[in-house]
Amino acid sequence: MTTQRLTPAPPEGAWLGIPPFPKAVKTELENSTQRKNLRHATGTIRAKRAVRASEVHNWEELRTAGEQIKNRVGRHLDHYLEQAEAAMTAAGVHVHWARDGKEANEIVTRIAKEKAVDEVVKIKSMVTQETDLNEHLERNGIAAWETDLAELIVQLGHDLPSHILVPAIHRNRSEVRDIFTAEMGQYGKAAPEGISDDPPELTAAARAHLREKFLRAKMAVSGGNFIVAETGTLVIVESEGNGRMCLTLPETLVSVVGIEKIVPTFQDLEVFLKLLPRSSTGERMNPYTSMWTGVREGDGPQELHVVLVDNGRTDVLADPQGRAALRCIRCSACLNICPVYERAGGHAYGSPYPGPIGAILNPQLRGITSKVDQALPFASTLCGACNEVCPVRIPFTDILVQQRHRVATKKTSKHPTIEQGLMKAAGWVMGDGKHLASVQQGSKLAGRVFGKKWIGPMPVPLVDRWTQARDVEPPPTETFRDWWKRERGDR
Ligand code: SF4
Repeated sequence: MTTQRLTPAPPEGAWLGIPPFPKAVKTELENSTQRKNLRHATGTIRAKRAVRASEVHNWEELRTAGEQIKNRVGRHLDHYLEQAEAAMTAAGVHVHWARDGKEANEIVTRIAKEKAVDEVVKIKSMVTQETDLNEHLERNGIAAWETDLAELIVQLGHDLPSHILVPAIHRNRSEVRDIFTAEMGQYGKAAPEGISDDPPELTAAARAHLREKFLRAKMAVSGGNFIVAETGTLVIVESEGNGRMCLTLPETLVSVVGIEKIVPTFQDLEVFLKLLPRSSTGERMNPYTSMWTGVREGDGPQELHVVLVDNGRTDVLADPQGRAALRCIRCSACLNICPVYERAGGHAYGSPYPGPIGAILNPQLRGITSKVDQALPFASTLCGACNEVCPVRIPFTDILVQQRHRVATKKTSKHPTIEQGLMKAAGWVMGDGKHLASVQQGSKLAGRVFGKKWIGPMPVPLVDRWTQARDVEPPPTETFRDWWKRERGDR
């Protein structure tokens, strides 16, 4: 058995090292294999979701119920969190609070050191990607083995995830075979010699590779889809059974959960257990739903820790409009329907949260200080397809426009940016009919100069890039006001 440790290709903070969306997307668009893989995969899941949603006669009411429950949680989050903490503590859970990702990582690492483990098995978890937990553990000499098949592909490929639900969506099966053949043997059981790209063979190789890790692991790390506040029950939904192995075999389990994952009661949970599988994988019911309330002697982990992570969530909650993004249950329906995501892929978003939810959540969680986050609200056509599929009715387009406004009005220096200057000028023109009339007179003059000729490339700053890409119609020689006067007199 090898003891070699994974060296994650991206260092901590690598996401923010990715160029901003407009630049990153150019590189991604050149990858035709990725575009083909994405088109096929998102198209398939999208179609399945549509069928499964149409089977439920009260689907729209369910969506409204999901929205309202999450809104209630947001309004009374302090109350539900304390209720959940009390219930979990009473059930024997050690509850920790983490203000940010750094604190969350330190808590998990401390527990691992106390348990004297040098490896942990992990269930796919978005929040630990958000905090770069694997990289933090790695730097402290603790290997974190991803056990979800797609996460394993990403990890063995020294890659970054590109989808919430299917992190290796950008890979096809022959790429997966190549990764397994080249990498598995370095970190444990090797892939069988001459393995084909047949999915059952690939799955069997992953199963054999992971099994030895499951059997020797003393500690597991998970996320959590929901915490039921009234009972302190943690809930994980999954498809592969790797989660069930992590939740039952190791002696110690640490669940890292965002504070917005609370649902008040079991009855509320029912709504999400109907919405989530149909919206995410297009299944009527997900294959494995694990729920556990505290520890039970002789059954499952004997030590259970829950780390409740803020990491910017209370800031999002403070924004009356933007807080709707916290309703997200990470189903990924918005990614699968998004024409921008389908072409750009997940890496261009510079975060483990790509697609429409990434475009509205990242700039709020991380603030709009970096160029990556300032670009994200603009990574959308505002077509609104995401509004239609989101099971908790997040109004993406409203939040995108709000975030764009925040970016456009953010003062980055003493001097206004070009965009701010242009917007100010546009405000002056549009804010007064007389100003508009005088600009229209100018445009009339330009119309006379250009005649009927379309305007081609103009080597003039501000308009050069625009006119290089498209011809512009000649300006009109008559304004609407002139036409009105001519046709209708002064009426
Ligand atoms: S924002 Fe809505 S559609 Fe997108 S992942 Fe979250 S719950 Fe699903």
